[in-house]
Amino acid sequence: MNKLEVLSILDQYGLSAKKSLGQNFLCNDNVIGDILDLAELDKTTTCLEIGPGLGALSEKAVGLCGTYVAVEIDTRFQDRLSEVITEQGGTVLFKDYLALGKEDLPDPSMEPDVILSNLPYYVMTPIMLKVMKDFPSCRKLVFMVEEEALDRIFARPGTKQYGPLSILTDLFGKKIKCFNVDSGSFYPAPNTVSSVIEIVSEGNTWDPAWIGFVESAFALRRKTLVNSLSSSGKYSKESILTALKALGIKETVRSEELSPSDLVKMYEILNEGKDEN
Ligand code: SAM
Repeated sequence: MNKLEVLSILDQYGLSAKKSLGQNFLCNDNVIGDILDLAELDKTTTCLEIGPGLGALSEKAVGLCGTYVAVEIDTRFQDRLSEVITEQGGTVLFKDYLALGKEDLPDPSMEPDVILSNLPYYVMTPIMLKVMKDFPSCRKLVFMVEEEALDRIFARPGTKQYGPLSILTDLFGKKIKCFNVDSGSFYPAPNTVSSVIEIVSEGNTWDPAWIGFVESAFALRRKTLVNSLSSSGKYSKESILTALKALGIKETVRSEELSPSDLVKMYEILNEGKDEN
């Protein structure tokens, strides 16, 4: 899909891009091809796309996959997406992904192998976290993010940007920054450069319960881990201090000093013998 095609589709369906929904439509066939190559879709693949928009990725992805489901918040795209997705055998759900329950899916037991999204930047983090919570056994996540988000996604312990997003994506799989996409590859052009990343699960142990735990650890970012975690009400200060001692970590440690694996060890000690959190 190129810029002329995007303009013609908008015109044909009487549509315009909504900034409030993060609508910047891809209009560069090379970039679209490169993203689909990364996704490695084939007839055995179950693919979920979040935010198909005008269908730049979907129109090619649907035919490549065994099962293809898209979730789009904007009902104005119904006619266009019915042509591009439904008529080719895919499914499109018109819903806010952040409010999507498994029961909304055509098959509630659906486990996508690949999740694809040119992410709406205003809800990038909540969508990424929900994807990891909803689909813990997904093999590959392919996301377009704004370049400035890379600092948070790839941040290392001890840095200002290090936090739940870097830790949880690290625990989910192997993160790779694949390539940059200039703003001219979108209509309308965003203010920033974008980047395509992939997160590939390599058979890692991943527990969605870590999401809530890591978020609690960072709830009071300027405080010590003990104060932050205990403020969730789930763990007593005493139990957190005991866990830190068992791991040989100082009592005054702050969450941002702990590596992802240290946080998992803390979680395991604190939840030993508990059924769930
Ligand atoms: N995939 C299309 C493309 O690459 O051209 C559109 C990408 S555009 C950056 C983001 C898309 O996400 C828009 O279609 C927007 O309406 C949709 N969107 C925004 N918030 C959403 C949400 N909470 N749930 C589902 N879709 C959402």
